[in-house]
Amino acid sequence: MKKINFFSGPAIIPNSVLVKASESVLHIEELGLSILEISHRSPTFQHIMSQARLLVRQLLGVPSTHEVLFLHGGASAQFYMVPMNLLKPESTATYTDTGQWAAYAIKEARKFGHTHIACSSAQNGYRNIPKTLDIPTDSAYLHLTSNNTIYGTQWKSFPKSTVPIVCDMSSDIFSRSIDVSQFDIIYAGAQKNLGPAGTTLVIVRKDILGKTGRDIPTLLDYQTHIEHDSMFNTPPVFAIYVCYLTLQWLAEQGGVSAMEQRNKEKAALLYAALDANPAFIPYADKEDRSLMNITFHAVNEAVSTRFLDICAAAGIVGIEGYRKLGGFRASIYNAMDIAGVKVLADVIASVKD
Ligand SMILES: *Cc1c(COP(=O)(O)O)cnc(C)c1O
Repeated sequence: MKKINFFSGPAIIPNSVLVKASESVLHIEELGLSILEISHRSPTFQHIMSQARLLVRQLLGVPSTHEVLFLHGGASAQFYMVPMNLLKPESTATYTDTGQWAAYAIKEARKFGHTHIACSSAQNGYRNIPKTLDIPTDSAYLHLTSNNTIYGTQWKSFPKSTVPIVCDMSSDIFSRSIDVSQFDIIYAGAQKNLGPAGTTLVIVRKDILGKTGRDIPTLLDYQTHIEHDSMFNTPPVFAIYVCYLTLQWLAEQGGVSAMEQRNKEKAALLYAALDANPAFIPYADKEDRSLMNITFHAVNEAVSTRFLDICAAAGIVGIEGYRKLGGFRASIYNAMDIAGVKVLADVIASVKD
């Protein structure tokens, strides 16, 4: 029996996408070849790549000032590619310290220039999104993490700023409507809400590039990938193919705004079940709760053990929290349907202290 998958990433993929992808691993009808054995220069893959980029444009409303890229190296590679491409050694980039991924991004930026911390919620265990930010007007850019996958907090609205904004949207891209024109770079590892591991979506405003004076390694220069339509070297063909199928699925579901509605409903079901049961303690501050990663603890070990046993019996997997944080985390990305969430909400409701 197929499990109900609450893993944080790599994560759930729509079943229809898995069926189509698995068929294409055997052979693509028109070609008589597997997706795994065709050239990235073949018309078939050229079409997949261009359609995937077009779907990203359509689904998010990407303006013509921005380019859509599929790159290698995970979101973590963007932690250094961003400062390498945007931050001069004598300049300062401003970061919001809202979780462990944000902290990793800060660590990498320090290797390329100065950093300034606009705000931090480290003091209270990253339970909230700080409401006051200190953003020097001469910052090269402001870096945000839209959704903090580990702690389960999310920016509900983004700070207005005159400085360029860079945002790590790895765990909530395509989960809600955004105004792409507000951002200079958006990046997201595919394996949370877009597809399998192996590629990273980057949306970049073209006119901010080429200004650092730095001699950037060819493969790490966004301009290389823009010039070569994400095909400078061999791209992760299969990962991009599955992203393409997932984007098609997303369009069929009614796009990002329909998803947002459904995601709100799903999260509301789980938070309501947690708030109603004193055996559990939700982790994030109420106003900053993520719609994608619902984090909580049990009041004691006995509840914790019982909860895990009932989850296992119900076919629920991937519910354990991040190692260092403990407790539980239910990741309810786009591909998780309401029925799956209801199973978990019922389990939560059934556990008594
Ligand atoms: C998972 C995650 C990352 C790291 O992604 P990799 O693709 O493993 O490098 C970075 N940022 C956020 C917000 C994430 O959730």
